[in-house]
Amino acid sequence: MRRFFQDVPEELWRSYSWQIQNRIKSIEELKKYIKLLPEEEEGIRKTRGLYPFAITPYYLSLINPENPKDPIRLQAIPREVEVDEKIQSLGEPDALNEEGEIPGLTHRYPDRVLLNVTTFCAVYCRHCMRKRIFSQGEKARTKEEIDRMINYIKNHEEIKDVLISGGEPLSLSNEKLEYILKRIREIKHVEIIRFGTRLPVLAPQRFFDDDFLDILEKYSPIWINTHFNHPNEITEYAEEAVDRLLRRGIPVNNQTVLLKGVNDNPEIMLELFRKLLRIKVKPQYLFHCDPIKGAIHFRTSVDKGLEIMQFLRGKLSGFGIPTYAIDLPNGKGKVPLLPNYLKKREGDKYWFESFTGEIVEYEIKEVWEP
Ligand code: SF4
Repeated sequence: MRRFFQDVPEELWRSYSWQIQNRIKSIEELKKYIKLLPEEEEGIRKTRGLYPFAITPYYLSLINPENPKDPIRLQAIPREVEVDEKIQSLGEPDALNEEGEIPGLTHRYPDRVLLNVTTFCAVYCRHCMRKRIFSQGEKARTKEEIDRMINYIKNHEEIKDVLISGGEPLSLSNEKLEYILKRIREIKHVEIIRFGTRLPVLAPQRFFDDDFLDILEKYSPIWINTHFNHPNEITEYAEEAVDRLLRRGIPVNNQTVLLKGVNDNPEIMLELFRKLLRIKVKPQYLFHCDPIKGAIHFRTSVDKGLEIMQFLRGKLSGFGIPTYAIDLPNGKGKVPLLPNYLKKREGDKYWFESFTGEIVEYEIKEVWEP
């Protein structure tokens, strides 16, 4: 549903460059569409330069202006709390220790490498784990920086999987993306390339460009990791974007972040994951919100995440249930979290909790040696 911009012809609305050129970045522009709360006006003012604000007309049009707690609004419009003294005293700008020797490159797990190729985003999400890069301005990595990253991959044969992220990696021009993909594909030991992109959510129009899809298809296997957080983000445009990717043989997985006030509710999560399955997106991860400076107010308790996981069991096909995971501090990696279903054990006897909450005794013995 298009709440605002009804006078914009559909042809323009479907143009990614129109969406980017017409991003709303100021209080004055935003006020034409939404009656701002005092903490939002102050938020936009006080976060200027530190955590800037920008929103595509498409994403803005998903906000219900009558609801101050609208989940899209909470994700996209700054609030004063981001620069509150207490919030600023908590968390780290780079809680996952991503910054290393080569600018933009993180090599944590032996077989995988992360490349951050730009600081540009279509929308600056208020909960972003890379919020620290917002203040660097909207800059794509130079050719020299990209080449340095690619040479590193070339010299590390253990790297099989390259995750390209940002900012928004798919905001790069088709030419620049083709350059990166071609160079990576020349490296024999790289098996798969993944993009961490939020464009299916924030500006799905990017995927309506056939030349761009031709490039992605040409350098297959490519996987997309996207980031839907709320059922209201699943629109006919998002569905079309995903469908166009799938038709080119590009699988789309989703990583949701558990966010206080946005989606910390079992029913909302169930609806989100159901809708994702309907548009053929696999819910891969539910991430516990990282302790990011300026975004820590979005954190919930771990109990809330476990409650949601418990609620989902039995209500959704197993492959629709994501792995709930938390990133350990200092770059120590992800840990999956599950409610405890094994309640007791005595020898070969186990007591499990079923999805209805019933405790079921079950004897499990090994009886044969091959
Ligand atoms: S699009 Fe991704 S990288 Fe950009 S602000 Fe949003 S969450 Fe962060």
